[in-house]
Amino acid sequence: MLPLMMNHPAGFTAFRSGEMEIFSVTDGEVIYEARCFAPGIPRTLLGNSPRHFILPHNILVLRFNNRVVMFDAGNGHYTAPEAGQLQFYLHAAGITPESVTDIILTHAHPDHINGLVGVGEQLMFPEARIHLSQAEYDFWVSESPDFSRSKNIPAALLQMQQHIKGILRVLDNRLQLFHSTDALLEGIHPVAAPGHTPGHTLFAINTGEEQFIHMADTCHENELLFHHPEWGTIFDIDFEQAAQTRQATLQELANNGKLVFGYHLPAPGFGKVIQGGDGFAWKPQ
Ligand SMILES: [Zn+2]
Repeated sequence: MLPLMMNHPAGFTAFRSGEMEIFSVTDGEVIYEARCFAPGIPRTLLGNSPRHFILPHNILVLRFNNRVVMFDAGNGHYTAPEAGQLQFYLHAAGITPESVTDIILTHAHPDHINGLVGVGEQLMFPEARIHLSQAEYDFWVSESPDFSRSKNIPAALLQMQQHIKGILRVLDNRLQLFHSTDALLEGIHPVAAPGHTPGHTLFAINTGEEQFIHMADTCHENELLFHHPEWGTIFDIDFEQAAQTRQATLQELANNGKLVFGYHLPAPGFGKVIQGGDGFAWKPQ
């Protein structure tokens, strides 16, 4: 993958691979308390890890064959001004919201879908078809989703579910639900990675010259969860299943050495997973 524009005033990075233009556009950063990560693990085991984690939000955009395909949509107006900057930096990258033809959601957590809907419930990407996993949709719109395997507070989870349900209602006639066995768009193949959420999905992307993997929220930062995939986060809906999926995904990526893109990893989010110590390590590229 060849860099097209590097070191652009922070906000986006562009690459080219074959006929595909590849952008990593930031939505901004959000600070989370350390207790959200490695819940229940004594601080003495966490080494020098910080009291707060600053999470980047990298939006992958592919331009090819007259399509503009965006993966997730950031935080929208809910976390402004530190995040919700996607629209601004898309314009900086020369991508208008009206030109986006497809938005593929890795899952339906608020930091991935809030940017789809503006104040007053208008669609921020008016022409886009929005692809979401059927399993993910079914979970969030159900009457009583099962939160019993999460380490988050039940009241917080219920509140989040009501919010997600509201956003999905606004998006209703734009949604196209997919199964993880479906080929989605030319060169883009979903890979089910349940646990973080029931329909959490990774994507194998063929540029025509190479393949890379969008690993979505497999890891939320570049230290703890690579070294200890089993430590997890309070954001995992099924904590144990997420840990197993994370371990298996990182092992496979370390074995095959493929280029990887991560939504919450340091911008622009590209790198490789390598074997390191007892676990794994993130090697930015
Ligand atoms: Zn996320």
